[in-house]
Amino acid sequence: MKKRKLNEITKLGIILFLELIILILVHFKPSIDIVSVLKIPMSKEYHEPQIKAHFLNKDLTNKIRKQGEVNPKKAGVYKLEYSVKYLGIKSKKKVTVIIEDDIKPKLTLIGNSVIYLQNGDEYEELGYQAIDNNDGDITKKVNVKAKVNTNKNGNYDITYQVTDRAGNQAETKRTIVVVSASDPNLKTIYLTFDDGPSQVTSRILDILKQEKIKATFFIVKKGFEYNDTIKRIYNEGHSLALHSSTHNYKYIYKSLDNYFSDLNDLQNYIKSITGTKTNIIRFPGGSSNTVSSFNPKIMTKLTQEVVKKGYIYFDWNIDSGDTGRIGKDAIIKNVTNNLGNYHTYVVLMHDYSLNDQTADALKEIIKYGKNNGYRFDKITKDTPIVHHNINN
Ligand SMILES: [Zn+2]
Repeated sequence: MKKRKLNEITKLGIILFLELIILILVHFKPSIDIVSVLKIPMSKEYHEPQIKAHFLNKDLTNKIRKQGEVNPKKAGVYKLEYSVKYLGIKSKKKVTVIIEDDIKPKLTLIGNSVIYLQNGDEYEELGYQAIDNNDGDITKKVNVKAKVNTNKNGNYDITYQVTDRAGNQAETKRTIVVVSASDPNLKTIYLTFDDGPSQVTSRILDILKQEKIKATFFIVKKGFEYNDTIKRIYNEGHSLALHSSTHNYKYIYKSLDNYFSDLNDLQNYIKSITGTKTNIIRFPGGSSNTVSSFNPKIMTKLTQEVVKKGYIYFDWNIDSGDTGRIGKDAIIKNVTNNLGNYHTYVVLMHDYSLNDQTADALKEIIKYGKNNGYRFDKITKDTPIVHHNINN
C-alpha cells in the first residue's frame, strides 16, 4: 500500500516535470536581441545590425539566419527577418532598416565660375551638371536664376540650385563680369580663316552658327559657285575681309601697283556680291613674309601704304598650323596650348579646299575657349591690332 502510493507520487512528479519541460519549450523560445527599427544615414558607413541570440544561458548567435538584404547605397526601407532554431524550436524577429539619403546632389558648373563679357556681348549659359547619389542625373531639375544685364558694366551672380527627392539641396554660383572692351581681364579669341571660300567653308559656318560666335574670313577670289557662300558669310554677321584676289606671291609682291590692283579686284568682287566694302585686310603670307624677298623692302612699303589708304591689316599671334596635314588633334593643341592671359588672340586657320581637318578641330577649340574664360569675336576696325615684325 505504501509502496503503491509512493509509485503514484513518483509518476505524478514525472508528469509534472515533463509538463514543466513542455511549458518551458513552448513558452521559452530562443530569444533574439535586436532593435526592430534601424535608421542609417547614407553619409555614415553601413554596418550589419548588431544581433545576439540565446536560449537560457546558451549563446545561439552563430546559429542566426538572415533573410533579406540591405543596399546601403540606395535609400529605402528594407525588411529583414532573423531566425534561430534550437532543439527544434524556431524564433523569428523582423527588423526594418531605413537607409536615409542625407547626401546632397553634386552640382558642377561647366566652364569657369567667373566669366568676363564685353559690354554688349550676349550671355550664353555654358551649362552645368547635377548628379545625385540616389536619383542619378538630375540636371533637368536644376533651377537657374540669372539676371545679367550685358549692357551695363558690373558683376552679376547666377545661382544654380537643385534638390534631390530626399530634400537635400545643393547650390552654386557663377559670376558674370561685364566690362568695357579695353578691360585687361577680357580675353578674346578672333578666329580667322584664310584662302577660302571652299566646300569646307559651309561646314565652318554651320559650326559657328551652332556655337553662336562670329569669326573673320580673309577670302580669295573663287568661282561664282562660291558667291552664295560669300553671301552667307556676310549675312550671318561674320567679318568678310580681304586677303588677295589671286594669292599669287610673284605677282602681287612685284610692285605696289600690282598689289593694289589685285586688292581692288577682290574688293569689287565682294562688293558685287554683298553690296559693301571692307577695309580689313591680311597680306598673303602675313606682313612678316619672306616669300616677297625677290622684291626687297616691298613689305616695308606696303604695310605703310595700306595704312595710308585707310586699310587696317591684321596678322595673327596663334598659328593653328593647319596648312600642313597635321590632323585635327594637332590643330586643337596648336591653338589651345598657346592661349594664355593676353587680351587679344588672333588665330590663323585656313578654309581652302579639302582642309576638312580645320572644320573637324573647330568645335573643340571653341568649346575649350568658352570653358576657359575666352570670348569669341570677329575682327572689326575696333579690334586691337596684332602685327608681325616686318622681315622684308
Ligand atoms: Zn593665304
